[in-house]
Amino acid sequence: MKTTIIDGQKISQEIKLEVANETKSFQDSFLVTPGLAVILVGDDPASSIYVKNKEKAAIASGMAGQTINLPSTVSEKDLLQIIENLNLSKEIHGILVQLPLPTHISEEKIVQKIDPIKDVDGLHPFNSGLLSAGTPRFIPATPAGIRELLLRNDSNPDGKHVAILGRSNIVGRPLANLLSMKSIGGNATVSLCHSRTTNLKKITINADIVIAAIGIPNFVTEDMVKENVVVIDVGINRVKSSMTKRGYRLVGDVEFESVKLKSKAITPVPGGVGPMTIAMLLRNTLQAAKLQCG
Ligand code: NAD
Repeated sequence: MKTTIIDGQKISQEIKLEVANETKSFQDSFLVTPGLAVILVGDDPASSIYVKNKEKAAIASGMAGQTINLPSTVSEKDLLQIIENLNLSKEIHGILVQLPLPTHISEEKIVQKIDPIKDVDGLHPFNSGLLSAGTPRFIPATPAGIRELLLRNDSNPDGKHVAILGRSNIVGRPLANLLSMKSIGGNATVSLCHSRTTNLKKITINADIVIAAIGIPNFVTEDMVKENVVVIDVGINRVKSSMTKRGYRLVGDVEFESVKLKSKAITPVPGGVGPMTIAMLLRNTLQAAKLQCG
């Protein structure tokens, strides 16, 4: 059996190009440039890279990208005020606060402060409520990217049994809603598994599509999946390595080499889900600008 290695890098480039073309025609019609503001609190090196990449990608798509770097000592009150100013700004259509935040700041309060029409991360309860109701507005970027990877790789989840491992608010839970929705890219029967699931293997071995988002290196092994399965690996884990200059390498939640042999299609790490997240964020930003311009 020939396994397809799903190329998230290539698909994300295609989507970025689509978004750039749509941005151009939107600008020509409305004379408005979609604007994305990304707030980074603290100086975590990995978060700084993610945020820089988001700004760069926005600019490359013809949008205005703005990063607001704040010290880790910033108060919750000041952060709320900054969001309020962005909520009122005519130039900013999408606001994203890079998580996690320092412990003295309530993530819940911050997420809820963002105007839902500018919530391009789709985490505001208003937007997660719309998704649960089956009428989504902004779909969180990683779940949206996963649905796109499936659709563009001849792996439509319609009628399939999908096992999702992990129930986080940014990946597992919204993904379960999305793939079970009555719509294109939905109609799956979803098993949402988590750390308290018993007999996990019994569920995964019967699944047509397995999606792992738990953050444990090489957790999914070949004995847990059936022949011809489609596997989406969301995990990004650093493991020590003397083979790289950085002293670590990135691996997913799936034991790639062995699971690949049983798979019809599988995403690599890196180069699978990761690049899709930024592409879908740009799509949400353009959609936010369109909504705000009526
Ligand atoms: P999280 O770290 O918030 O939570 C982990 C989840 O895994 C929990 O829901 C927990 O119930 C579940 N879990 C833990 N042990 C389990 C077990 N033994 N069996 C089944 N489920 C178990 O989750 P997250 O924020 O979604 O992150 C998960 C992984 O995905 C991390 O490696 C993260 O870096 C990665 N991630 C990647 C992207 C991307 O763009 N590629 C985006 C978000 C997260």
